[in-house]
Amino acid sequence: MFKSKTADADVFPVAKSDAEWRAELDPAAYKVLREHGTERPGTSPLNAEKRDGVFHCAGCGTALFEAGTKFESGTGWPSFFAPIEGATATTTDRSFFMTRVEVHCANCGGHLGHVFPDGPQPTGQRYCMNGVSLSFEPKA
Ligand SMILES: [Zn+2]
Repeated sequence: MFKSKTADADVFPVAKSDAEWRAELDPAAYKVLREHGTERPGTSPLNAEKRDGVFHCAGCGTALFEAGTKFESGTGWPSFFAPIEGATATTTDRSFFMTRVEVHCANCGGHLGHVFPDGPQPTGQRYCMNGVSLSFEPKA
């Protein structure tokens, strides 16, 4: 019997044990990235980030969003209308009696937030992200 590697949806290019993630991430980032937590709105300094640059995954460093796709959604969470191609993946989240589309890092599986179909053009998508799951690198 041969088992297909791609059959296991939980295997990501960056795979670490829970203990490794816990040791590496600060507690707030661990709660969001590994336990699907949600930061309190308005608490992330990245809400006000307006410089040019790139937002990376706080778990594995993958480039996820270009600053040019960020917009002010008024929600209190950093919001983007499009991720860098291939950097994120989605799954359906049915918690809290709602059906939402969960967004995670395609490289490490870390939970980033949700995507909603009420964003601005050109995509009409609103990637509602937890700032704690991102790290910003200003353009040099
Ligand atoms: Zn990642």
